[in-house]
Formats: sequence, structure tokens, C-alpha cells
Amino acid sequence: MEKELITLTIDGQVIKAKKGTTILQAARTAGIDIPTLCFLKDINEVGDCRMCIVEIEGRRGFATSCIQKVEEGMVVHTNTSNVLEARQVTLDLILSNHVKECLTCIRSGNCELQNLTNKLNVSKIEYPGEMIKHEIDDASPSIVRDPNKCVLCRRCISTCKKVQKIGAIDCINRGFDSCISTVGNLSLNDVNCTFCGQCIQSCPTGALHEKETIDEVCLKLKDPDTYVIAQTAPAVRVAIRRRI
Ligand code: SF4
Ligand code: SF4
Repeated sequence: MEKELITLTIDGQVIKAKKGTTILQAARTAGIDIPTLCFLKDINEVGDCRMCIVEIEGRRGFATSCIQKVEEGMVVHTNTSNVLEARQVTLDLILSNHVKECLTCIRSGNCELQNLTNKLNVSKIEYPGEMIKHEIDDASPSIVRDPNKCVLCRRCISTCKKVQKIGAIDCINRGFDSCISTVGNLSLNDVNCTFCGQCIQSCPTGALHEKETIDEVCLKLKDPDTYVIAQTAPAVRVAIRRRI
């Protein structure tokens, strides 16, 4: 049965959306951009990061558009000065406990946090405070986990649990000490992680990334006594041997 259509207004645009749709979905379908950070369609729709907040006429405070469903006659504003200011403060707080190493970070240029910082025009940290220094987990053969670049969006947790059905990672500790890790805060190498890499795909920052072996390969390439065979995987089945 066709779902009932709801009529609402977003930023002055009259929109029809199916009942049960979120404001975020309805806005994006209509070409209205609302920023998000923790949102991952069908996988992590939890409204944690508060980046997608909007104002709804007749209601106090902000609504989280990734979980708030559309309602008949609703009038939504996505970019009032209150909304923009609140998003900036939220981002500022996230950045205040984040190592800012963009110049050398593997994700620079492809980082959702970096993009948001530019988009929301956050050019200085208003709340520099205490920062937690976490150990970097690089013991596994293929994945590096750097909690110092984590924004606690939980997209990796949901992907590992819901998509991969493994549950190797979760949120440990509470409050300021919260951290995405493994049971017992062990290395990914010592738990049931299969190194599928799906959590890397879902991470919006450089908190999870693949391990590079470019330096090792370059060293081998320079060694005249070694036959070097390079192979890309997955998908492209090609092998190249250096001629000696
Ligand atoms: S994760 Fe993003 S914001 Fe953080 S240092 Fe790396 S590029 Fe910069
Ligand atoms: S690599 Fe795969 S199994 Fe390991 S934590 Fe990430 S999603 Fe889970």
C-alpha cells in the first residue's frame, strides 16, 4: 500500500514527503543540505552528534532532523542564525578534544570533520580544554586505530555490528573518558576482528585507517638483490615484476 503523503515547509519550500520520512531525508530529497556527522543511512541513525539540528515553528529548542519524522503542516528552518551558531559550538567542542594534525593526516582532503569545519566556518577553537591522550593501536597487520582522531560518532560500531555481524568494537568508559575500543581495551589484533575494513569505510575521520606498506615496498624496490613483485588487490588481478 502506498504510504500517506505529508505536506510540510522547509526553508520556505513546500515539500511532500512520505509518512515516516525524517526531516533530513525530506530536505535532502528536495535538494536542501543539512550537515551531518554521525548519520550513516540505514546503519547509524542515532542523532548523537547534533550537527543536523533544525528549528521547527511552534516548538522550543532544536530538533534533530535525522531522527525527527515529518508531520503534516510542519514548518522547518534549517539555517537560522540560532541553528548555525549551535552547530558551530557543537563542532568547536568536538574539535577541542581532537588532535589537529591535518597537514600529516592520512584523511586530509577526504575527511568529513575537516570539511564540516570549513563549511561551518570554524576558524578558531573557543573552548580549548583538557585533551585525553589515547594509545594508537597499530598492532594489526592491516588496520590502524587512532582514538585521538575519533569523534565518537559510532558509525564504525554500527557497521561492525549490523553490517558485518561481528561486534568487535564498542564504546567503553563514560563521559569524558568515553572511547571506541574493544572489550578489555585490547588491540584489534587480539579480538574477533576479521580486518574486513568496513569500519574504515564508515569512519568520517582518520580515526580508523588502513596500514600503509609503501615505505617497505620502496625499500625492496631499491634492493638490487631482491626480485620485487607488486600486486594490487582486491579486484584488479595484475602482477608486475621489476626487471633486473
Ligand atoms: S581526522 Fe580530519 S580533522 Fe582530524 S587531523 Fe585528520 S584530516 Fe584533520
Ligand atoms: S575491520 Fe571489520 S571486523 Fe574489524 S572492527 Fe572493523 S568492521 Fe569490525
